[in-house]
Amino acid sequence: MRLHVFSLPMRTRFRGITVREGALLETDRGWGEWSPFLEYPPPVAEPWLRSAREAAAGDWPAPVRDHVPVNVTVPAVGPEQAHAIVVAGGCATAKVKVAEPGQSLADDQARVEAVRDALGPGGRIRIDVNGLWSIDEAVTRIPVLDRAAGGLEYVEQPCAAVEELAAVRRRVDVPVAADESIRRAEDPYRVRDLEAADVAVLKVQPLGGVRACLRIAEEIGLPVVVSSALESSVGIAAGVALAAALPTLDHACGLATVQLLAADVAVDPLLPVGGRLPVRPVRVDRDALARHAAPPDRVAHWQERYDAVRRLAATTGGTDEEGIA
Ligand SMILES: [Mg+2]
Repeated sequence: MRLHVFSLPMRTRFRGITVREGALLETDRGWGEWSPFLEYPPPVAEPWLRSAREAAAGDWPAPVRDHVPVNVTVPAVGPEQAHAIVVAGGCATAKVKVAEPGQSLADDQARVEAVRDALGPGGRIRIDVNGLWSIDEAVTRIPVLDRAAGGLEYVEQPCAAVEELAAVRRRVDVPVAADESIRRAEDPYRVRDLEAADVAVLKVQPLGGVRACLRIAEEIGLPVVVSSALESSVGIAAGVALAAALPTLDHACGLATVQLLAADVAVDPLLPVGGRLPVRPVRVDRDALARHAAPPDRVAHWQERYDAVRRLAATTGGTDEEGIA
């Protein structure tokens, strides 16, 4: 098992970062991405390692489809720019960020209307609130944006707490999706038990891998949207593997995020064509990996982190040294 630490520049600041640091795990059977965000302590980063080991072991379930539909993401920009992003994206589904601090409901309405105009009547629009509304704000604003959109596919994380999602869901007609409410493996069951969402957003690395997510999807009985954790193409391939293996896939996935990076570590980056990602292996570009290797102090930091998480994984009995659960 070899660890390659990368540092990829981003096109624009996202999630407060301008460089995406992470590691690729190499075995003689394949590659996996291990890129827990820097602030995550070992217990949080441990399922991410399980996911990387599963990928590097080449242990993914067989796909049942050969393409995965993806959404274009529209940040909290003005209507003209929103329109242009949707046209350039070439996707049939758009995820529109709303509730940006400092902006008004009228700003959100104008953006959503522009997105509908760009998509045409057949496209789907989902809005993402990132948990920023109160229950009352959600209950009054969702119908307004539903009308502006000419029908919303769903509203993602209208409020921060899972109990609030449950309350909103009982008071609005638009389906509710849980995103931030699902970060650890136990979370999806809580969302299910509280009947807090109609759709579950699952990310492969934080939830411990493709097979773990498939199991969760089956057990919670909710439609799933597979989303990225801002990975390189190697990590995105795990999301695609999950989306490709789900028995049913009713919604476009949030996996078109490689274009947020200004560089990649794959020979053939997983970028959407015609609103879809192909289900195929990703080949690591060793030259790119060398070019975008993190500086020595950062490599040392990741190596230390890796050793700590590996020790933790060994004591909790989750995985052995070879990464086979
Ligand atoms: Mg979200």
